[in-house]
Amino acid sequence: MTAAYEYETHDYDVVVVGAGGAGLRATLGMAEQGLRTACVTKVFPTRSHTVAAQGGIAASLSNMGPDNWQWHMYDTVKGSDWLGDTDAMEYLAREAPKAVYELEHYGVPFSRTEEGKIYQRPFGGHTTEFGEGPPVQRTCAAADRTGHAILHTLYGQSLKNNAEFYIEYFAMDLIMSDDGRCTGVVCWKLDDGTFHVFNAKMVVLATGGYGRAYFSATSAHTCTGDGGGMVARAGLALQDMEFVQFHPTGIYGSGCLITEGARGEGGYLTNSEGERFMERYAPTYKDLAPRDYVSRSMTMEIREGRGVGEHGDHIHLNLSHLPAEALAERLPGISESAKIFAGVDVTKEPIPVLPTVHYNMGGIPTNYYGEVLNPTPKDHNAVVPGLMAVGEAGCASVHGANRLGSNSLIDLVVFGRAAAIRAGHVVDAEAPNEPVNTASVQKAFDRFDAIRHASGHTPTSDLRLEMQRTMQDDAAVFRTDKTLKEGVDKMVAVAGKFQDIQVTDRSLVWNSDLMETLELANLMPNALATIVGAEARKESRGAHAHEDYPTRDDKVWRKHTISRVEGNKVTLTYRDVIVAPLTTEKEGGISLKKIAPKARTF
Ligand SMILES: Cc1cc2nc3c(=O)[nH]c(=O)nc-3n(C[C@H](O)[C@H](O)[C@H](O)COP(=O)(O)OP(=O)(O)OC[C@H]3O[C@@H](n4cnc5c(N)ncnc54)[C@H](O)[C@@H]3O)c2cc1C
Repeated sequence: MTAAYEYETHDYDVVVVGAGGAGLRATLGMAEQGLRTACVTKVFPTRSHTVAAQGGIAASLSNMGPDNWQWHMYDTVKGSDWLGDTDAMEYLAREAPKAVYELEHYGVPFSRTEEGKIYQRPFGGHTTEFGEGPPVQRTCAAADRTGHAILHTLYGQSLKNNAEFYIEYFAMDLIMSDDGRCTGVVCWKLDDGTFHVFNAKMVVLATGGYGRAYFSATSAHTCTGDGGGMVARAGLALQDMEFVQFHPTGIYGSGCLITEGARGEGGYLTNSEGERFMERYAPTYKDLAPRDYVSRSMTMEIREGRGVGEHGDHIHLNLSHLPAEALAERLPGISESAKIFAGVDVTKEPIPVLPTVHYNMGGIPTNYYGEVLNPTPKDHNAVVPGLMAVGEAGCASVHGANRLGSNSLIDLVVFGRAAAIRAGHVVDAEAPNEPVNTASVQKAFDRFDAIRHASGHTPTSDLRLEMQRTMQDDAAVFRTDKTLKEGVDKMVAVAGKFQDIQVTDRSLVWNSDLMETLELANLMPNALATIVGAEARKESRGAHAHEDYPTRDDKVWRKHTISRVEGNKVTLTYRDVIVAPLTTEKEGGISLKKIAPKARTF
């Protein structure tokens, strides 16, 4: 049966789905070049999760000591545990200073040094001398509200450049042509129940991560992997989904984030014996080792009985030795969060913290122009015409198996900008829009209608909780063959239960029951791909710590996991990691020898 829904059609050169840092930087760049650009977002732009980013944005400005892009690139390669694509990592590190100065000129109110330069703080895994020297101050900050400052600035600039915003429009599905190009997106307007087809020459997915597949996450409730869901339903690929970052310092109980900048400013972790245990695990960089390292060390302390609190199940983050003025100036936001969510006065007491799901290294595979890849056995880097992905939804892949702190905000603006530059070359603004593929639109409505009228027995919130608990228990900081096998079986069963979903509200206006069900339908393929990919990967690399295979195996496993999800079935293939940098040592680049894989110690 086909569902009859009327819709309005909007013709554009480009439609960007998402108004976080990545979506807004892409929107601004497209509009600046005169492309007719629409930005569609399910929440008000400045409520996107980027607003919560605290610590800062990485770029080798050298404002507070020597630094250069080669060191930043080296740290990113090592941080990725040699799974990132080298060309994209070079592009990120090289373009970062330019992208940050652009932000400054757009009006981002960065904190300042005495001489009036952009203030930079140390962050985990950022070093000097290709990992041989002391920590570097590379993370540009606007106090501990950097994402807030960036997001508000980019929104203002996008409006100034006449980008058109469609706010509280929920993107349901991609429109694909019969020959595999993306030509638009179908949306539901949440506040009046109307439907809108955005017919465009380029669609950019900037829908953010899928932290909400887990029970305890630092990310907003809106982080439901909608872009990944749409891509999976279009038969396209997801990449490296098994790599999920646990941030060492989520507040115990609420999961609310305490930025790594807290340790950058001199904070440190202690166990129940009051010991600064990171000195044992990472003698050189201690509390500023990368996140995967610190999260594992904390988990080991707790396992070995040295956790703090009544149940010995968390760790202390100490800031009270820092001058109160420094806390007020550099970390005002987290001082407030600690008070509200843990009842702690950071000038006097330690904050109770626990590793908490924070970031998805995996996502929709792209090249370093932001173009989405659909790898085939013959061509691992085949491009899907008309489709781009940027930000946490995408996987360029610059973070590989583990992202360095402050490398996401820079990823958003560097690749949002790169996508706009590329679109300027490949989108013909003079050409008319092609007619809408009504068969593809109808498919989206049929799915929507089936969910809207779903009359099974499982409420959305019950099934979501079951998924979140499964992921939390079985795809955790440490993984084993046994937990992963059990987790895959459970997740396949959970996803199967979507057939029995129960939606009680059938209206089309502000129907949060229906919207959350559509979001759950998007979380499912992301969660499935994560746990199936994890079960298959028989090694430990970055955030994937497999206790039965404790070492990294470059011979077999230095490759990207490509997953395609249909219903509750996941098919895995693999894609070669791009090893060659963009420029040679002669051209001022970094030598292959310098970035050759080696043991990752700190
Ligand atoms: C608490 C916290 C602190 C962080 N701090 C830092 C930091 O200091 N430095 C750093 O580098 N990284 C940090 N990160 C990571 C970084 O902030 C995120 O990875 C990044 O902001 C994601 O940006 P984005 O533009 O990809 O997506 P988001 O900011 O999540 O935006 C997603 C956008 O997509 C839209 N959208 C989604 N689905 C749909 C749909 N179906 N239809 C229409 N619109 C849709 C949403 O409305 C939203 O506008 C932090 C993350 C968290 C959670």
